[in-house]
Amino acid sequence: MFRSAGLSALLCLTALFSTADAGDKLKLLLVDGQNNHKWEQTSPFLIELFESSGRFSVDRATSPAKGEDMSGFHPDFAKYDVVVSNYNGALWPEQTRKDFVEFVKSGGGFVSVHAANNSFPQWPEYNVIIGLGGWGGRNENSGPYVRIRDGEVVLDKTPGRGGSHGSRHEFIVETFDDEHPIMKGLPTAWKHTADELYDRLRGPARNLNVLATAYSDPGTRGSGEREPMLMTLNYGDGRVFHTVLGHDLTAMQSVGFQVTLLRGTEWAATGEVTLTDVPENFPGKEESSSRDVTK
Ligand code: ZN
Repeated sequence: MFRSAGLSALLCLTALFSTADAGDKLKLLLVDGQNNHKWEQTSPFLIELFESSGRFSVDRATSPAKGEDMSGFHPDFAKYDVVVSNYNGALWPEQTRKDFVEFVKSGGGFVSVHAANNSFPQWPEYNVIIGLGGWGGRNENSGPYVRIRDGEVVLDKTPGRGGSHGSRHEFIVETFDDEHPIMKGLPTAWKHTADELYDRLRGPARNLNVLATAYSDPGTRGSGEREPMLMTLNYGDGRVFHTVLGHDLTAMQSVGFQVTLLRGTEWAATGEVTLTDVPENFPGKEESSSRDVTK
């Protein structure tokens, strides 16, 4: 409670004494440093995407490299409105884990991008926060599969591995919850650039809201199920946006990836979306659309 009261007071002061431009920026912390993906390429891209939106000021917390001593890795999560993870690596130290859980529980925003949901199979609370994850030995003990069948979300407890994907290809992302502020006003079906279509994710899936789905086609070695692509969750007073999209720069250049990530991150930080403009080059069903935000 003390933290919330402090934050309200701070917001009042900001409104009174600073220009709207400076005061409106949300404080974002991007976490990276280990990943089985090329985080050295994708993190600068994500930072440019967030900063060029004008809505976020971005700091970066890069962990020690794989195999190095993690004991000193302790970002000050509480300073931020939202934490975005581009991290898939060694378990964080105990105090860092505790502080992260407390940050989200007490109202902080969290965003999981692509392989961030591969992280931490051994950390139960992280899996509650992200709802679904893949790989790292995840199986039926991790929670159900979440499938969309006949327009309904189905929690499927069939035993089996958690997490896989077929060959990389372009696919259509379809809106499932068109009333949610992250999805409102966007085309309800759009072609995503070539990416891994994550399937068979498993997790606690508590307080999980599916925003958008894609069909995982057995023809591209998929599951034959309609799988969640964009999700939100509530954890304590915190909000979580989970996008499984974004394997590499090609995937992140997708205008659909960018718009939904910016909106989702703003929603995780504030519970609202003011980034409601739909860019002219937002894709439809027929063709994907790319934008290199670094150019
Ligand atoms: Zn990937």
